[in-house]
Amino acid sequence: MENPEIGKQKPACGMASNCAFMIRRTWKECRGVLSVCTGLIFCGVAASLLELFVVPSILEAVERGVGPGELLRLIAWFTLGMVGVRALREYLDTNAIFGRITVRSSLCLELHMTFCRTSFPHTEDPDYIKRIKKASKCLDSNDDAGEAIWQTMADLLTNLISFAIFLLLLCRVGPWVALLCMALSAASYFAGERIRAWRYRRREEEGALLHKMAYAMDRGRDMKLAKDIRIFGLAPWLTQLYEKYTRLYQDFFARSQRYYLWADLLDAALSLLRNGAAYGLLISMALRGELGAAEFVLYFTAVSGFSQWVTGIFSKLGELHRQSLELSVLREVMDTPEPFRFEDGKPLPVKENHLYQLELRDVSFRYPGADHDTLSHVNLTIRPGEKLAVVGKNGAGKTTLIKLLCGFYDPTQGQVLLDGEDIRQYDRRDYYKHFSAVFQQFSTLAGTMAENVAQTTGDKANLPRVWDCLDQAGVADKIRELPEQENTKLGREVYLDGIDLSGGQLQRLMLARALYKNAPVVVLDEPTAALDPIAERDLYQRYSDLTGHCTSVYISHRLASTRFCDRVLLIENGGIAEEGTHESLLKRGGRYAYLFELQSKYYKEGAMEDE
Ligand code: ADP
Repeated sequence: MENPEIGKQKPACGMASNCAFMIRRTWKECRGVLSVCTGLIFCGVAASLLELFVVPSILEAVERGVGPGELLRLIAWFTLGMVGVRALREYLDTNAIFGRITVRSSLCLELHMTFCRTSFPHTEDPDYIKRIKKASKCLDSNDDAGEAIWQTMADLLTNLISFAIFLLLLCRVGPWVALLCMALSAASYFAGERIRAWRYRRREEEGALLHKMAYAMDRGRDMKLAKDIRIFGLAPWLTQLYEKYTRLYQDFFARSQRYYLWADLLDAALSLLRNGAAYGLLISMALRGELGAAEFVLYFTAVSGFSQWVTGIFSKLGELHRQSLELSVLREVMDTPEPFRFEDGKPLPVKENHLYQLELRDVSFRYPGADHDTLSHVNLTIRPGEKLAVVGKNGAGKTTLIKLLCGFYDPTQGQVLLDGEDIRQYDRRDYYKHFSAVFQQFSTLAGTMAENVAQTTGDKANLPRVWDCLDQAGVADKIRELPEQENTKLGREVYLDGIDLSGGQLQRLMLARALYKNAPVVVLDEPTAALDPIAERDLYQRYSDLTGHCTSVYISHRLASTRFCDRVLLIENGGIAEEGTHESLLKRGGRYAYLFELQSKYYKEGAMEDE
């Protein structure tokens, strides 16, 4: 069903503003685009005038009885002019693309940077993600708004200038001929446009169908799913999905083609009416002797040309309007206000000893759109250098607590403080510099092992430090065995000679990366999830050395892993249910002790069964 809102959305920026935006951007990035456009407009107008006047001028010369020499000269001049204009247009057309691509690339880069640098809550906001996707669509190819707008603007101006010239010419025959041509051309355009707009309004429906088709196709090719597809026999399911959406898309396409057919038929009928009336008048004037042969041909050509300009103006305006809507989405996304302060925030005080105190003061947090708080009135002070463990059931809010501490979200109530100062006043990117982390999802990039650890290109990485961190994380031996050691490329998505590491090895590589950053606060979110029990034990034993003097926050669902921490927090029901050392919590005999007992019983039973 058609979404009534789609056609009614009011863009934040109008057409004139979007054209001005593109001109400003081009002035900054590549001024040549503007000269090329001007050249193309000149060529368009000149070509139409030459075509209009060539035959009438020759006829007029013949009527005047000029000699063959002059006639040939006239023909030669016209031919030369037409060839010259055509050659210039071809040359500009061929070269126009380079500058336009430069401008589009700069917009692509800005959009990419916008998403990489925007406040974290945006990255989890489905509406923002949808808008980013929509915005990037207008920069996808040469035919999308971010580039095609230049052609549209040049065509529109060519149409407007030619229209003005033809109008002056037709007014000489009689203003009502011009009026009739204009009215019927406009009627034909608007009737057609109503039908074409049908498809435009349904672009979301079309987009959704194309997206689903692509989804089914991409899943089938996804390397990560290859094993599941084979084990669970998913191929027929994916094929059925693909076929289903292809069928739906074909139906949609057939419907839209029917609409187009009606538009074309209507256009043909109105053209017949328009040209019939105008040509009829010209013929009757010629028969009455009011027009000579040359004038007759001139006006005859002008009538068909005139409607072409009128239709051209409307159609290019429609195109410009659509492109402007798409550019408006792009600009809205790029100008979306940031909830966090960045460059305008205060710089963070830097301490050589890395000892900072973190505090959550009466913090409550509710995810946007949720109906309850995930965390409620939490008070927590993490002392400089403290090793804190956060435990609790799945969904208790452990990761959310970390997101607040790291400054990924601001609390909905209360404050996060660094050395007693609210972190909202600081440049948030400066604040992130104080944190290092191993998150649950592996976030390696296609690059060498050294680049992944140092998060910079190979030659800028401090190799002795890279190896030291790999050693501490317990993955150095594995890297030494690789064909090119630290220069071995990770991942095969980009490099044919890239290699894949196991989940545990990747987790250790991520740990090495966290150590390399040498930040004051280290956050480890289930860092042993992909490790085997021996590797897990090894990590626990070396935890103090690994985190050194840093403050560290360690999230785990394995309660036994918290022994080596100074303090344990048990998160339940949106708050800190219990806190203390592992031993004190066991002695207390509360929820922590109960959960610990449950887990160790399970592991012991499991171990006995294994034996
Ligand atoms: P834990 O780390 O303890 O497993 P989380 O902090 O990840 O728990 O999640 C706590 C609750 O918040 C869960 O109910 C989860 O569904 C919800 N939640 C987590 N992330 C989001 C999000 N981005 N948007 C909405 N709800 C979320």
